[in-house]
Amino acid sequence: MSSLPNCPKCSSEYTYEDGVLLVCPVCAHEWAAESEINSLEDEKVIKDFNGNVLNDGDTVSVIKDLKVKGSSSVIKIGTKVKNIRLVDGDHDIDCKINGFGAMKLKSEFVKKV
Ligand SMILES: [Zn+2]
Repeated sequence: MSSLPNCPKCSSEYTYEDGVLLVCPVCAHEWAAESEINSLEDEKVIKDFNGNVLNDGDTVSVIKDLKVKGSSSVIKIGTKVKNIRLVDGDHDIDCKINGFGAMKLKSEFVKKV
């Protein structure tokens, strides 16, 4: 754990691992740690609740109330999420939600708009 790379965006050395991702707490940049992830990304298809294939930049809406980890906030059903970014991991959608900031969602809890 002592050899994590610096953040490629802001060069912060305070990076940490979050599953298969590396996360920079300084600028909130996240990126894949392993080169093998890249080959996975090419083949991985992420689908929404209805089985529609999701792509980077899609707009989705939340299909159920989602509790926000570490807070008492809830993302309400029907919340629109613009410009999603697909990532690897348990929560496979990276996005920003108005009023909440950067979030990670599970594709099974959203549908394409
Ligand atoms: Zn950074």
